[in-house]
Amino acid sequence: MRDEFSEEVKKAVGQRVNYICSRSDCRAQTTGPQDDPSKAVNVGVAAHITAASEGGPRYDPEMTTEVRKSPANAVWLCQTCAKLVDNDVVQFPAELLRRWKFDAEREARERVGKTVAGNAKPQIGFMLGTKLRIAPVIPRRIEQDVWIVMEDQGDAVRLEKSNSATAAIPKSIIEDFHSFGNSQPSLLSLKGRLQWITEKQVWQFFPEKPGRPPDGDLGIVRDVDFHHPARENIPQCHWFRKEVIHKFFSQGWNVYYGADGRYLRFVQNHETFILLTRLP
Ligand SMILES: [Zn+2]
Repeated sequence: MRDEFSEEVKKAVGQRVNYICSRSDCRAQTTGPQDDPSKAVNVGVAAHITAASEGGPRYDPEMTTEVRKSPANAVWLCQTCAKLVDNDVVQFPAELLRRWKFDAEREARERVGKTVAGNAKPQIGFMLGTKLRIAPVIPRRIEQDVWIVMEDQGDAVRLEKSNSATAAIPKSIIEDFHSFGNSQPSLLSLKGRLQWITEKQVWQFFPEKPGRPPDGDLGIVRDVDFHHPARENIPQCHWFRKEVIHKFFSQGWNVYYGADGRYLRFVQNHETFILLTRLP
């Protein structure tokens, strides 16, 4: 006599994994529409983890009939995987099937009620207080600065720097997140660049990456004429010869970055000048 699952049990087992095959490297969808608009096709089965009758795959004589027929002894599989696991009990022991079931149900539980956009977001979780560096960030001379995770907003992560500067980084622009252990800051690599905008005094994301130093050491350039700053009413600014700008950083001067995220360059008689400003 075979200890078959009731229709009720089969339905519950399938629904618990959203009718997706539980085998970890399959995950085939097992239901869908038929040509008849009132019917659905089903290519999934509630497979026995331990066999329904003596002599069957993974049969457990110690198990009571009641348990053998219960949802606890069923794993939802597509027909292909169901045949596979019954033909090779050495490769597919009961413990492995229980593991698949556990993982498939956990995945289904996490998907319940989530939108497509919610499912597509990178699975990066940030612990509050995590310390990290960002690359690339313009100005480059603060790439070693440490940011602290203040809030994981789901789609974005809010960071704060020691001088209370804040930035919200959408997770969609994160290229890589690398942890070096607890002793040193993690590295957050971006698909573009995090860029300080001088006049708005905000951090903004731009999809273009700066070149490697020395060419890209200040970020991305825009060539303008000498009178451009006056014409644009850029306050508290001054042209400095490129060779000496670093001396002025310690005196409160900073490279000026316009709304397009670019720094301004003016070239005359083979001399290069960079626009610096005294704004914070
Ligand atoms: Zn399958």
